[in-house]
Amino acid sequence: MKSLAGRIRVAASLALAVAAPVCLGFVTPPSAASSATYNYAGSPLSMQDMEVIECDVAIVGGGPAGCTCALYTSRANLRTVVLDKNPATGALAITSHIANYPGVDRTMSGAELLEQMKNQAVEYGTRYERAQVFMVDVSGDETGDDVYTKCVYTPDYTVKARSLVLATGAMGRSGKPFHGEKEFLGQGVSYCATCDGAFYVDSEVAVYGATTEAIEEALYLTKFAKRVYWITNVDVGRSSGDGVLGIERNKVLDEDLMDTLLDCPNVEHVERTRLVEIVGDMSGVNGVKVRALGSDEDTVLPVEGAFIYLAGGGTKPITDFCRTKVDLDENGGVVVDEDMQTSMPGVYAIGDIRNTDYKQVVVAASDGCIAAMSIEKFLNNRKTVKVDWIHR
Ligand SMILES: Cc1cc2nc3c(=O)[nH]c(=O)nc-3n(C[C@H](O)[C@H](O)[C@H](O)COP(=O)(O)OP(=O)(O)OC[C@H]3O[C@@H](n4cnc5c(N)ncnc54)[C@H](O)[C@@H]3O)c2cc1C
Repeated sequence: MKSLAGRIRVAASLALAVAAPVCLGFVTPPSAASSATYNYAGSPLSMQDMEVIECDVAIVGGGPAGCTCALYTSRANLRTVVLDKNPATGALAITSHIANYPGVDRTMSGAELLEQMKNQAVEYGTRYERAQVFMVDVSGDETGDDVYTKCVYTPDYTVKARSLVLATGAMGRSGKPFHGEKEFLGQGVSYCATCDGAFYVDSEVAVYGATTEAIEEALYLTKFAKRVYWITNVDVGRSSGDGVLGIERNKVLDEDLMDTLLDCPNVEHVERTRLVEIVGDMSGVNGVKVRALGSDEDTVLPVEGAFIYLAGGGTKPITDFCRTKVDLDENGGVVVDEDMQTSMPGVYAIGDIRNTDYKQVVVAASDGCIAAMSIEKFLNNRKTVKVDWIHR
């Protein structure tokens, strides 16, 4: 029988985050590598374990926009925290080669460039955490705090900040939703296993998508669910031992992670099959209807949760966690002024989340620089920006 908790997972996630009682303050991690490690073997954090981080600048999204902003704010001695849901899923991370970023060898991959940007920010003192942000508070009225007037909520951390930067890019779920997807969103349909996985203890769940993000999220769910169906509409072609995958496009999948997932005893891979519909009733999802490629018959897999991870087209700004808090334009981009400040004082938006026509890495980095210098001016009540030219 489905638990009530499964039905109110969004509210419960929020309550867990808000109720966090421990304040550990700002601690700079020893290295980028250690802070970026994601522990699949870990159990969900209890309320006592949940950390509250206090900082000057909270940056949501660790793409080129977020990392550049962090580099600058850290160099300006502002305590900076970057929260990134998954560095493998941003627009830069999936770019095979980045030939037009100034000064960079054209053979460099987007993922390599991003790693360098992140490491540079961390070397200057940025705290970088893997966490998906599901809500933000943007004013002292909301946080009830005169100093930390912004608050960022994730399943594992609550970050209290004096300023907030929105840098989640535009790789949002685009295209036509599946039948039932909108209807059961928050009622069994989810895009965040780390937020909602704990509600599926001993349940059966489906993860749809041939993406590295889908693999990681499915792995996370294996810690809770009795069975995880990983459904891919392509032949992902498991490594044959010589490291060769089935088809060319799936070279973008992380092969080691995929092998780890497929070795899990509670994972069933449903290959060359497409998702047709999310089915359910008044109490939420109770199955996913799927159809094998080449077949004209549907099958219903009896699941309580459907996690969907299709690669976005790079055009839909990711604003689900903030869209009621700042002004958006008619295309869903966050509106900013020339300082990159949004309609809320102390809240900035940079990079593809602005949804301009100029979606380029160099522009995202430039936005990050402008926002950082504006934040320094804002937090230190300066009339003009302070340049960052002096070498330390
Ligand atoms: C296929 C492709 C090829 C491209 N090629 C080029 C190119 O050759 N040259 C070029 O200049 N530009 C290129 N671009 C554009 C460029 O990659 C983007 O303009 C740039 O990466 C935008 O940076 P960003 O930091 O705003 O967003 P992103 O790079 O998308 O980073 C956003 C980050 O936010 C994180 N995030 C999302 N939601 C949350 C959340 N709720 N909580 C926490 N974190 C979250 C994501 O995991 C991601 O790491 C390409 C884009 C695509 C899609």
